[in-house]
Amino acid sequence: MSARIIDGKAHAAALRARVAEGVRGLARAPGLAVVLVGEDPASSVYVRSKGRATREAGMRGFEHRLPADVAQADLLALVARLNADPAVDGILVQLPLPAHIDAAQVITAIDPDKDVDGFHPVNAGRLATGLPGFVPCTPLGCLLLLRDVHPHLAGLEAVVVGRSNIVGKPMAQLLLTESCTVTVTHSRTRDTFAHVRQADIVVAAVGMAGLIRGEWIKPGATVIDVGINRTDAGLVGDVDFASASEVAGAITPVPGGVGPMTIACLIRNTYVSACRREGLDVPKDL
Ligand code: NDP
Repeated sequence: MSARIIDGKAHAAALRARVAEGVRGLARAPGLAVVLVGEDPASSVYVRSKGRATREAGMRGFEHRLPADVAQADLLALVARLNADPAVDGILVQLPLPAHIDAAQVITAIDPDKDVDGFHPVNAGRLATGLPGFVPCTPLGCLLLLRDVHPHLAGLEAVVVGRSNIVGKPMAQLLLTESCTVTVTHSRTRDTFAHVRQADIVVAAVGMAGLIRGEWIKPGATVIDVGINRTDAGLVGDVDFASASEVAGAITPVPGGVGPMTIACLIRNTYVSACRREGLDVPKDL
């Protein structure tokens, strides 16, 4: 193996420690409200770990569990109460929502200035136009890992594989803001291999186990694997780690790469929200 392994757990722990230190300096504990509709086991695990991370950072966690058959109007009424609650700095509605609920309408109902997931169209627009807002946690975590490998990202060729609203598109926007030359590929791209092969930076966010193999990677490239795929061999990414780590210069493992950064960035965004709402400067090293 030649690649440097990017230790997402260590980066996430360091970020969470910086946030916890910032929180100790605030006059009040920031609050994060997490709304879970139904009993989806994976979502329950995510919500529990978000609650734990919130408390460990010295913040207040408000968990709202609603039955799977909750009426959309009741969910919207809860969001409205959280928008108005001064103790709540961040609101997160855990996705996916049951089929009878219009997820876009629920996300749009969240106050953009409490939308710590960064999914509200106002925050997507702010990201696209360079205004301060909230950036979705997973791509933000990827960017922080990339900046550690490449203090200067400007001019690098970056390929983002996947164009979802929560990962691929905001990732591409972030890399563009860093002055990378950005290509986004998706299921209709004629030859994703040919694009990836040119890239100094590859971010894989597809949801297909081991899609991107070592022979796709330009020697020395940095590979960020967002994918989480449950297989008989356990959790694996969208990148075939064994072959890609022979060629890449740096690579994130799955698990232990991007995943821990996602929750750390949620805590970060909640702290940033509290600072803004209190009229305080946000520390630069976040
Ligand atoms: P989506 O299913 O929303 O998007 C997948 C994207 O991959 C789509 O844009 C799709 O294209 C594209 N795609 C599908 N097949 C190909 C192909 N053969 N070549 C190139 N692109 C292709 O997934 P998400 O973005 O939500 O998530 C992606 C992965 O990241 C999943 O494994 C998910 O579990 C994981 N994830 C991990 C997180 C973490 O914290 N580590 C957080 C969020 C997600 P098209 O648009 O044309 O359909």
